[in-house]
Amino acid sequence: MTETKPGHPKGLYVLFATEMWERFNFYGMRALLTLFIVSALMISKEQSSIIYGGFLGLCYLTPMLGGFVSDRFLGNRYCIMLGGTLMAIGQFTLFASASLFSGNLEFARTLLYIALGVIILGNGFFKPNISSMVGSLYPKQEKNKLDTAFTIFYMGINCGAFLGQFICPMIGDHVDAAGVRDVFVFKWGFLAAGSAMLIGTVTFFLLKDKYVITPEGRAIGDLPSRNVSSDFEEGESQKANFSNTALAVAGLAFLCLGTTFHFVFGQNYIYSLIYGSGLTLAGLIISDSSLTKVERERILVIYIVSFFIIFFWAAFEQAGSSLTFIADNQTDRNFFGWNMPPSMVQIFNGLFVVILAVPFSLLWDKLRANDKEPISPAKQAMGLLLIALSYFIIAFNVKDLGTSGLLAVKWLVLLYLIQTLGELCLSPIGLSLVGKLAPKRFASLLFGVFFLSNASGYALAGTLGSILPATGEQFAKAKEIGVDLQAVLDKAVTPTAEQLTKLAESKISINYATFAGFAIHNLFEFFMVFVVLCGMASLLLFALVPTLKKMMHGVR
Ligand code: GLN
Repeated sequence: MTETKPGHPKGLYVLFATEMWERFNFYGMRALLTLFIVSALMISKEQSSIIYGGFLGLCYLTPMLGGFVSDRFLGNRYCIMLGGTLMAIGQFTLFASASLFSGNLEFARTLLYIALGVIILGNGFFKPNISSMVGSLYPKQEKNKLDTAFTIFYMGINCGAFLGQFICPMIGDHVDAAGVRDVFVFKWGFLAAGSAMLIGTVTFFLLKDKYVITPEGRAIGDLPSRNVSSDFEEGESQKANFSNTALAVAGLAFLCLGTTFHFVFGQNYIYSLIYGSGLTLAGLIISDSSLTKVERERILVIYIVSFFIIFFWAAFEQAGSSLTFIADNQTDRNFFGWNMPPSMVQIFNGLFVVILAVPFSLLWDKLRANDKEPISPAKQAMGLLLIALSYFIIAFNVKDLGTSGLLAVKWLVLLYLIQTLGELCLSPIGLSLVGKLAPKRFASLLFGVFFLSNASGYALAGTLGSILPATGEQFAKAKEIGVDLQAVLDKAVTPTAEQLTKLAESKISINYATFAGFAIHNLFEFFMVFVVLCGMASLLLFALVPTLKKMMHGVR
C-alpha cells in the first residue's frame, strides 16, 4: 500500500482560491440582483422573486450539462476555465445593463436575461467540475481526508461569499439618510463581481499545472483522452448503461411531468423543466434492472433526503429576495452607528460559516469518537428544524410591526446565525452522503439528482418569495397616491380608475397573495409559511431516521 502523506495537497489551496473568487462573483452579484431588477429595471418584486428563483434553479440544472461535457469531452480543467470566462462575461453584461437602463429600459432588460443565461451556463461548467476536482486530488488511500478537505473548501466558498457580499454592496448599493437609493451605482457592484471572476480564472490558469497534479506529477482533470484510471475500484463498472427503451420511457415521462407541472400546477416553463427533469432522472436510475436490493435501498435514501432538503433551500434562499426586500424596506439597519446597505445584510451567513465550519467539523469528530455522531439524515432533519426556528423567531418579531414599523437588524443577524447552524448540519455533508451511498456507476448521475433537488428548492424559493406581502414603502407610496392600501387589500374601499393605474405603475398589488389556497395577509403569516413547511419536513424526516438507517446498510 502506498504511504499517505500528512496534510493536504497544495492543489487544494489553488481550488480554494479559485472557488473563493468565483463565489465572490456569484454571491456579490446575488446581493444586488433583486434590488437592481426592482429599482433600476422597474420590474415588480413578485416577478423579480420568480426570476431570481428560476435563475438560481437553472444554475443547479446546468451542472448536469457541465458534468457530461467534462466526462466525455473537455475534462475538469477546461470546463472550469470555460465556466469562469462565461461567468465573467455574464457579469460584464450585467454591468452593461446597469449602465444603460436609464436610456433604454427595454434593452437593459434584454441584457439582464442574456447576462443571467450566460452566468447559468458558466456556472454549469464551473461548479460540478471544481467540486469533483477536490475529490480527485486525493488518491484512494487518502480518501479519509475528504471530509476535512470539503470543510476547507466550504470555507473557501464562504470566504468568497463574505468578501463579495461586502465589496459589491459597498460600491453598488447606496441609500441616503432619507432612504433614497442611487440606482446608478449598481453597475460598480457587477463590475467588481466580473473582475473577481477574472481573477479566479487567471489564478487557476496560472497555478493548475504546478499544483493541481497527482503525487506523481500527472495533471488532474485533464482532457478525458489523457486520463489514466488508477483510482477505480476493482470489479466495478464505471458507466451507467441505460437501454434505449428506458431512455425512451424517460423522455416520455419527462414530457408528461413537465406538461403536468406547467398546465396543472401552473408553474412557468423553467420551473416545470427543473421539477420534471429531477423526477425523470430519479426514476430512470431507480428503475435500472442492474441494481441490487441494497443499492436500490441506498439510492432511495438519497431520494428521500433530496426531497426533504428542497424545503431547506427554498427557505434559505429567501436571503437574496424577500429577506433583502425586508432589509431594504422594513428594517432599521443601524449597525453600531453605521447604516448598513440593505444588500449587505446577507453577509452574516458567509461570515458565520467561516467562523463556525471548523468548530462544527471538530464537534462531529468528537461525537464520532464517542460513537454518538448522528447519522446523516438525522443531521439534515436538525438543519430543517433550525431553519424553521430561525423563521419562527423572526415571525414573532414582525408580528407587531404593522405596515410602517422597523425590524431591528439584530434579528436578521440572529436569523442568519441560526440558518448557518442549520446549513452546517445539512449542506457540507449532503454531497459526501451521496458519494458514500451511490453505486459507482451511477455516482455522477445521482449527484445530478442531488443538484436537481437544490434546483427545485431554488425554484420553490422563487414561488415562496413572490408571496411576500406589501412592505412599508409600498404602504407609504400608496398613501402618496391617496390610497389607504390596507383598506383596499381588505376590500373595505375600492380605488378609482386613476388610482388603480397609479398603483399598477408603482407595482403595488391590490390583492393579497395566496399560497396553497391561504391568503398571506402580513409578514407574520409570510414567515410562518416557512416555519410550517420546514418544521413539518423536519419532523417527518426525524420520524423516518430509523427506517433510513436500515436502508443505508451500514453507511453513516
Ligand atoms: N453555499 C454553498 C455554495 O454556494 C452551497 C449551496 C448549495 O449547495 N445549494 O456552494
